[in-house]
Amino acid sequence: MGIAETGTDPVSQPIMIVGPKGNVYLPGGKGGGAYIARRHIHMDPQEALAVGLKNGDLVDARSDGQRRITFHDVLVRTHPGWRAEVHLDTDEANAAGLRNGDTVTLILR
Ligand SMILES: [Zn+2]
Repeated sequence: MGIAETGTDPVSQPIMIVGPKGNVYLPGGKGGGAYIARRHIHMDPQEALAVGLKNGDLVDARSDGQRRITFHDVLVRTHPGWRAEVHLDTDEANAAGLRNGDTVTLILR
């Protein structure tokens, strides 16, 4: 499955959604489909600037819980008013034992 990159449309893959009232098939590409979102952090541009970051930069994020892991190449995405918040794929977060509201340490390059 494709991973969404910055500045480009994610290349989605075909998917069949099966529900109690029927099925929906999405063909992928521009016709809609599924993709794995790249791990990223949302930040306000001024907050990012204060720590020397800008939209499109990459940082690492270290989780210091029981299942200590460092996530590399976390994409910085900025927008006015955004709170600093790391978004990970559910499988990645589960591997680290992370839950919503947990904290990580950003490692700047
Ligand atoms: Zn996000």
